[in-house]
Amino acid sequence: MELPIPYGHQYISDDDIQAVVSTLKSDYLTCGPAIPEFEKVFAEYVNAKYAVAVCNATAALHIAAMALGVKPGDNVICTPLTFASSANCIRFCGGNVKFVDIDPETYLLDINKLKETLAAAPKGTYKGMVLVDFAGYPHNMEEYRKVADEYGMWILEDACHAPGAWFTDSTGEKVYCGSGKYSDITVFSFHPVKHITTGEGGMACTQNKELYDKMALYRTHGITRDISKLQRQDGLWYYEMQELGYNYRITDMQAALGTSQMKRARKNVEIRRELVKKYNDAFKDIPGIKTPYEASNVYHAYHLYIIQVEDRLGLYNFLRENQIFAQVLYYPLNLMPYYKNLGNKEGDLPVVEEYYKHCLALPMFPTLTKEQQNLVIEKILKFLSR
Ligand SMILES: *Cc1c(COP(=O)(O)O)cnc(C)c1O
Repeated sequence: MELPIPYGHQYISDDDIQAVVSTLKSDYLTCGPAIPEFEKVFAEYVNAKYAVAVCNATAALHIAAMALGVKPGDNVICTPLTFASSANCIRFCGGNVKFVDIDPETYLLDINKLKETLAAAPKGTYKGMVLVDFAGYPHNMEEYRKVADEYGMWILEDACHAPGAWFTDSTGEKVYCGSGKYSDITVFSFHPVKHITTGEGGMACTQNKELYDKMALYRTHGITRDISKLQRQDGLWYYEMQELGYNYRITDMQAALGTSQMKRARKNVEIRRELVKKYNDAFKDIPGIKTPYEASNVYHAYHLYIIQVEDRLGLYNFLRENQIFAQVLYYPLNLMPYYKNLGNKEGDLPVVEEYYKHCLALPMFPTLTKEQQNLVIEKILKFLSR
């Protein structure tokens, strides 16, 4: 059996390698045809109308926040249970981040606390919200949309954990994370630890043509060559920089890797869900361990399988001694020194703090073998029965 066992690992097939090699031998290493192709297959996968591929999800969040019009002084709501970029993208644009506590079952931003926060401030105080489909759990975005509409807010969905996840809305429709039925923009990451990898990479999806055009412009310096958009006519060499953008492009090698990975994406979520079933069954009647919640109208993508245990440090160390590298995700973002310096403090958000004390992400990736998973389960049961 292969040891140590990490909490997540990429899955690269021979076909994936071949796709990258072919691209290296082609005429384009960047700005070539592999990029729109990847955007197309990814958009189909998440049921999006438009997709913009970029160099990582942090860049995707940044151009999303720019396209949504975040300006210095704008107030935006964000979950504290996430990777730093979900909130940082608001700071990049000079906005203020207001953290709202999580729900203790789903670990998503608590919709009741959201409503309380909005009701307690004058209308118009908050311009939008960043919602994170934490661990792969899709929000019931229909409910959040109702709240957002009531207050005239936009929704930026960080679905870095959730490609392939969906929930059923009140019309009975399967709503994929990324479809944009209820969110304005949805962002994904292709970092090696995520479901689909391009080494580094990200995608921003939307149904809104205007937001799409803006993001495509910000991805590449704010420069356009589209004749219909140019302010003057000149030779075919002529382009215009119309806004201040960045170089957030992805390469053709990365895009080709992504397209190749997409062929196994749906299947890999199924494999993850099989692993979940096995973990859940093993821990079902064991006191002292809480397994993840999943509502009946939800298809959770399980980027992470997170348990809650009383003695988290003890279990973490015990697993490590046995070459099992479980992981703790995340330390509350509002308590990171940077955000503390902006006025956040311990005790502000008790639910996420309690979550953090007990959470542990167990190994969860499609190539985790039966023997490896058995070992993880055996060691956890052994620790809990001491
Ligand atoms: C990984 C991740 C990001 C950042 O993704 P990068 O591609 O590394 O920039 C942002 N948000 C969440 C929730 C993530 O898990």
